[in-house]
Amino acid sequence: MAEPLTDAEHDALAAKLRELEAGLEGQLRSATGDGKPVALDTAIGRVSRVDAIQQQQMVKATRDRAEGRLLQVRAALRRVDDGDYGDCAKCGEPIGFRRLDARPETPFCVACQAAAEARRG
Ligand SMILES: [Zn+2]
Repeated sequence: MAEPLTDAEHDALAAKLRELEAGLEGQLRSATGDGKPVALDTAIGRVSRVDAIQQQQMVKATRDRAEGRLLQVRAALRRVDDGDYGDCAKCGEPIGFRRLDARPETPFCVACQAAAEARRG
């Protein structure tokens, strides 16, 4: 079972979350310009049109991931404000510094995360 966070660990992770939030917000702002629809009737070759669509889908996938992570980061920052950060949102056990250091926005402990992923299949 993981140990609860020390004050220093808690503060370091909170600072990391704020950095992540700012970084993701910047990433999303800069990605918006690439999300313009492809003009399918533009007189470009078929292959490059397919390339453009594929590239656009990749940009969108990247942006969706960043948006999803930003939501998690913000939820984690709310838990910091509420004093709940560091405890699993499901079972309430400490998540542990090593896990949070790798992914500070994670709301679940290893066991609950594994259970959720097993359910998803
Ligand atoms: Zn848990």
